Amino acid sequence: MGKVTGFMEFERVEEGYKPVPERVKHYKEFVIGLSDAQAKVQGARCMDCGTPFCNSGCPVNNIIPDFNDLVYRQDWRNAFTVLDSTNNFPEFTGRICPAPCEAACVLNVNDDPVGIKSIEHAIIDRAWEHGWVRPQVARIKTGKKVAVVGSGPAGMAAAQQLARAGHDVTLFEKNDRIGGLLRYGIPDFKMEKVHIDRRVEQMKAEGVSFRTGVMVGALPKGSKVTNWAKETISPQQLQQDFDAVVLTGGAEASRDLPVPGRDLDGIHFAMEFLPQQNKINAGDKVKGQTRADGKHVIVIGGGDTGSDCVGTSNRHGAASVVQFELMPQPPEQENRELTWPYWPYKMRTSSSHEEGVQREFAIATKEFIGEKGKVTGLKTVRVEWKDGKMQEVPNSEETLKADLVLLAMGFTSPVASILEGFGVDKDARGNARATTDFNGGYATNVPKVFAAGDMRRGQSLVVWAIREGRQAARSVDEFLMGFSDLPR
Ligand SMILES: Cc1cc2nc3c(=O)[nH]c(=O)nc-3n(C[C@H](O)[C@H](O)[C@H](O)COP(=O)(O)OP(=O)(O)OC[C@H]3O[C@@H](n4cnc5c(N)ncnc54)[C@H](O)[C@@H]3O)c2cc1C
Ligand code: SF4
Repeated sequence: MGKVTGFMEFERVEEGYKPVPERVKHYKEFVIGLSDAQAKVQGARCMDCGTPFCNSGCPVNNIIPDFNDLVYRQDWRNAFTVLDSTNNFPEFTGRICPAPCEAACVLNVNDDPVGIKSIEHAIIDRAWEHGWVRPQVARIKTGKKVAVVGSGPAGMAAAQQLARAGHDVTLFEKNDRIGGLLRYGIPDFKMEKVHIDRRVEQMKAEGVSFRTGVMVGALPKGSKVTNWAKETISPQQLQQDFDAVVLTGGAEASRDLPVPGRDLDGIHFAMEFLPQQNKINAGDKVKGQTRADGKHVIVIGGGDTGSDCVGTSNRHGAASVVQFELMPQPPEQENRELTWPYWPYKMRTSSSHEEGVQREFAIATKEFIGEKGKVTGLKTVRVEWKDGKMQEVPNSEETLKADLVLLAMGFTSPVASILEGFGVDKDARGNARATTDFNGGYATNVPKVFAAGDMRRGQSLVVWAIREGRQAARSVDEFLMGFSDLPR
């Protein structure tokens, strides 16, 4: 249980960041992980409180008190075994998970929570360094063929679990590299792509076949969704050739802002802007890259995607970066008595925000203005929220200068045409309709077609995608074999 009195003796230690002037010059990761001694102290702070809310706060149900204790005892090998039993890709979550587990930590009731994410990060980085992460090749092959469509964290987790259960798995991806939003979306400075490449090698050794540049079904004409497919397969072909199909195509339809002037040049979806930089970092050439150098950039949308646009714009050398959020500024501190153990509503400042941005809350865009077809500014109005309804504040109109506008207002749903190609029913939000029940979970209305990750639950988090991929794999295994030994 860590050290019996550890939580009273030791303070929380945060992972460090390299200094801003240094890190904005490059796209590499800049988090300074915990030393062994710091990780031991973090582990020692775990109280083994008896009812580990952290364990249920974590979507993959990492067995946190156990690995905390093992790290306190410096038994890293077994700490890795515990972590690996619930999470296929802790090097992803140890870097970019917002850590709902820490919000749920019992110490967080009246003190600072255990630095669970930093411990996870330390365990998995050490495991890779020491060669403990090895392929887990199935001893018996079932002869069943499964297609997984979409190679984000949900598709990768589902494919890995199904291959370990002995099935022949083919992972289809329309883009030219594996990883989904981890590859083309999330900037390299948050997560370098070598972490995905290493897992792809592990999965190849476990028997997964990867088919990149293959679009399953079709996107609507003029779609701005990333697509570097060179080949197309129809949903019907896939259903014919495979014993089961898992749809993990994400929620790629970006939310637009259809106000006057939207068609001016210089207004782009975040998901047009961010993947280009990922590609360049990977050594590709991108013709006519949208760049922020010397520009006044306005990012519309206050979430993770918006923050990633801020970090990328600063690395390009933007003259100024402003980020808009429609909602009012949240409180600096949550009311823990009301919110614990749930994810609290409070002001969050990301490492990209620390690198330089003017954040504007409770502001709406009325119109884009421009000259000669190019955006030059935005007409805005301040808003307030009363009884859940947004109202404009009278006489609060302003015009702000902008020569690059990035729309980062989230995603509405999966691309409808992909689900429609399979005949999969949608829920009210346009996601693939499938439950998460233990019996028959993740199955859609179409025989032998399953759905998981953002494609089923809507825009979410990497850790939820891994959970859904794992659980969907179990459900597919049960469907194919009548039982499953895969973990729930
Ligand atoms: C910019 C950005 C930053 C984010 N930052 C974070 C973060 O810091 N932490 C966090 O936890 N979450 C973050 N998220 C959310 C997270 O990335 C997603 O929730 C997660 O990647 C969803 O995983 P997924 O596997 O369901 O889908 P995705 O990662 O979206 O992968 C879907 C894949 O399917 C492919 N595909 C779709 N349709 C087809 C088809 N018909 N044929 C072939 N291939 C297809 C797509 O090309 C894509 O590669 C961020 C999202 C964005 C956009
Ligand atoms: S995956 Fe996320 S929620 Fe789970 S232990 Fe790691 S940081 Fe916490």
